[in-house]
Amino acid sequence: MIRPDPDGRDVVELCDVCGLLVAEDEAYLSVVADSSATATEGGELMDGERLLTACSWEHLEYLVLAYEQRPFVWEELWAAKMLDALRQYGPRLTTVQLAAASGLTPAQLDHARTWHTHHRLLPTAPEQEDGQNRAS
Ligand SMILES: [Zn+2]
Repeated sequence: MIRPDPDGRDVVELCDVCGLLVAEDEAYLSVVADSSATATEGGELMDGERLLTACSWEHLEYLVLAYEQRPFVWEELWAAKMLDALRQYGPRLTTVQLAAASGLTPAQLDHARTWHTHHRLLPTAPEQEDGQNRAS
């Protein structure tokens, strides 16, 4: 049953698998380890935890198994925390300020920057009408 929140809006969740709208009190929930998740995005969760929402036990099980297969990479978590701190306190901080804002050590920040540099998605050059990449 979908119930209204104090402002009269229906409280619903989205299934993380199929996108089906589920009433908040009928959602299937779990928490898993995920090095791409920070507490900032997860509300009450700790860094490295992700709340999963599903429409059924089957979809929840699918999600849990998918996250169990995903490696937990500390450098990924540190990079996410570094970016959170820059968004919240930046955009321009010294390394000392960034360490204080993120709660990371200078060594963890070094690993985070290296990980971020190697894993961020670089923009690709738009293709021309003949399908050739302008950068090539
Ligand atoms: Zn679903």
